[in-house]
Amino acid sequence: MKIPMQPIAELDGDEMTRVIWQQIKEQLLLPYVELNTEYYDLGLPHRDETGDQVTLDAAEAIRRLRVGVKCATITPNAQRMEEYKLHSLWKSPNATIRAALDGTVFRTPILTSRIKPYVRGWTKPITIARHAYGDIYQAVEMKVPGPGTAELVFRGEAGEERQEIFRFRGPGVLQGIHNRDDSIESFARACFAYALGRGEDLWFSAKDTISKTYDGTFRAIFQRIYEEEYRTAFEEKGISYFYTLIDDAVARVIRSEGGFVWATKNYDGDVMSDMISTAFGSLAMMTSVLVSPEGNYEFEAAHGTVTRHYYRYLKGEATSTNPVATIFAWSGALGKRGELDGSKELCAFAAKLEKAVLDTIEAGVMTGDLAALCTGEDVKTVDTEGFLRAVRQRLEA
Ligand code: NAP
Ligand code: MG
Repeated sequence: MKIPMQPIAELDGDEMTRVIWQQIKEQLLLPYVELNTEYYDLGLPHRDETGDQVTLDAAEAIRRLRVGVKCATITPNAQRMEEYKLHSLWKSPNATIRAALDGTVFRTPILTSRIKPYVRGWTKPITIARHAYGDIYQAVEMKVPGPGTAELVFRGEAGEERQEIFRFRGPGVLQGIHNRDDSIESFARACFAYALGRGEDLWFSAKDTISKTYDGTFRAIFQRIYEEEYRTAFEEKGISYFYTLIDDAVARVIRSEGGFVWATKNYDGDVMSDMISTAFGSLAMMTSVLVSPEGNYEFEAAHGTVTRHYYRYLKGEATSTNPVATIFAWSGALGKRGELDGSKELCAFAAKLEKAVLDTIEAGVMTGDLAALCTGEDVKTVDTEGFLRAVRQRLEA
């Protein structure tokens, strides 16, 4: 008897990950689960055909069904425009969905004893939460041609406020950035709720000693929401929240043993998540979850469509692309579906699938990217299909 389930939104994608997507469903899901999905094809050709409407429809489906799982997708650039003969340079689907759900992205590495993090002390995962709104990502920039005065001007209902920025004696550059209290509040709530769900401490870092008003506002909002809405729940769970300066946080993260959620501003999260994922060993072992303030979840792998492998696959070569993060996107989505509906069976299957993957790697069977990071006589490098077969055997056992 296959396990029944309520529907989730399924967002298909591009290139190598699209190939793996199908294999995962056939090998590891369809034999065991009465897979119930609303399918949205976010492959670039279909995004182009629908004028990117399919991406908006998919975001709406995640909001309605509360859970989605997404395959990696191409973010088109000029070269892709030529390659796929696109009608337009469509925006990144991830950015579109993030904006539609007002979501926060949490990235967590998948640990196995076979792959030692570059930082020896890290024995537990570090989850990075990146505020995906504003700052330099929505900046307005200007080249200053020559001497003159730059001012910050705000025209509001109650009148005008202005402040001098700088008196230029020659050419230079200018940038205006902003953020919104409601976006920072959503971000803070998403972080507190996520840390509570994982039962881990929450750290938040910024630079409020230098940026007293801008970063100071982030710090104050986090503190207020913690006191008003989360302190009691945190104390009951035996976890804590603390704020520290970004440079202090960086030093502490390196000295830590892991096992916490690190909330960061947009740019810090962009940079630090690449550092954290690389230091844990492999981008192919990083999961990514988008959480909206209403508690809607979208699960995906943190890596891209693995284009280089796809071109080899098209030539008929077997590729050793690592499917682990994509499998964990599925298990994360199925587990969340089970949790929301109180389906113990579905939760148990999601946990069993993850265990089968980890046991396979622990037994020395892995794709080339991991084998390269591993020492030991008994490591057996397999291609993607070989890895999925080995996981299947464990699920059957
Ligand atoms: P990528 O697809 O993450 O791949 C970069 C390299 O990392 C690969 O060439 C491969 O290295 C290694 N790698 C990544 N995932 C792997 C896996 N599962 N197994 C084994 N090796 C893996 O990044 P990219 O090449 O910069 O981007 C390709 C496309 O993905 C772009 O069109 C980009 O827009 C898109 N993208 C999408 C998302 C998303 O949807 N979330 C995120 C990032 C990028 P080797 O070639 O050395 O083996
Ligand atoms: Mg980055």
